[in-house]
Amino acid sequence: MIENKNQSRTSLEQLGEFGLIDHLTKDFTIEQPTTIKGIGDDGAVLSPDDEKIIVSTDLLIEGVHFDLSYTPLKHLGYKSIVVNLSDIAAMNAVPTQVTVSIAVSNRFPLEALDELYAGIALACKHYKVDLIGGDTTSSQKGLIISVTAIGKAKEEDIIYRSGANDNDLIVVSGDIGSAYMGLQILEREKQVFLVNPNNQPDLTQYDYIIERQLKPEARTDIKQLLKDLDIKPTSMIDISDGLSSEVMHLCKQSKVGCNIYEDKLPLDPQFINTCEEFNIDSTTMAINGGEDYELLFTIKMDDFEKIKGNPNLTIIGHTTQESEGTHLITRANTKIPLKARGWNPLEGDTENE
Ligand code: ADP
Ligand code: MG
Repeated sequence: MIENKNQSRTSLEQLGEFGLIDHLTKDFTIEQPTTIKGIGDDGAVLSPDDEKIIVSTDLLIEGVHFDLSYTPLKHLGYKSIVVNLSDIAAMNAVPTQVTVSIAVSNRFPLEALDELYAGIALACKHYKVDLIGGDTTSSQKGLIISVTAIGKAKEEDIIYRSGANDNDLIVVSGDIGSAYMGLQILEREKQVFLVNPNNQPDLTQYDYIIERQLKPEARTDIKQLLKDLDIKPTSMIDISDGLSSEVMHLCKQSKVGCNIYEDKLPLDPQFINTCEEFNIDSTTMAINGGEDYELLFTIKMDDFEKIKGNPNLTIIGHTTQESEGTHLITRANTKIPLKARGWNPLEGDTENE
């Protein structure tokens, strides 16, 4: 549908590796005081202030993590940065630098990489992180992107997955499930397009959920929001693989159980409408769908008054003793064990840990 429509195609061989790196990175500027030397030497040089350093890496493979038939390269560039910044945010840290490594086949013209880097540049600007290096190489087939994000936090501010206690409140930012239903719409439109390439779909009624899939944001704002509320979460994780899996990770690492309440899950109306249209259960999609990049965390019961009614944060349940297990309490008040459903964006296959 959005397969590269650029008229001009400059082959990568015309530039050579160094020309390509120069071309792609020439407009990036350094903003962080801790970046001493960015792109251009054998290594970048950072000067940490008195804070701890947090590092996180993700690898994105064409055909596994993204489908270029409906993912504009600019969005892909933006998202590849965002998913890494989300991990830094989930440590309650502030992202400061990223490296970006790419492997590309000769199927991609320079103009395609320009689009990818335009998205990377937009994300770096929006989140105030410096692009300080990377690597560029060829691949036999398809596009591979690896991003490493670096962040900083005071030691006492860092939040691990392992810190939850029995009888903490479980909180989620924003809403969940929308990114997954956005993907369902894109997959459906891809099939329609394959049958009739002249079909121009009207997707306005799905704009929010599609944006959640194609242009997610990292909740780097939550750190300050919690600070303003005078709350320090006891544990935290970001939601990349779906609420159910992430809750189970937190519980396992914190050695607690949990009850999540179906009627408390924060769902967007467009998400609910789309589930109805597909005739699928919205709760199942909300807890198993991935890529929302919201934050999931636990807080002490005493902090309830501070968080109550906050439009950005929803209390969805509480932790229990580990022996009680991890459960969803349905509207009908039945108790269903949560399942870790590892989530594959293209094949939708399952993986239990
Ligand atoms: P080396 O041969 O030492 O690996 P390169 O020639 O690959 O060095 O890289 C030169 C500079 O460009 C380095 O600072 C490197 O970090 C940076 N760089 C290379 N590829 C990328 C990329 N895809 N995005 C951003 N920076 C890159
Ligand atoms: Mg190199």
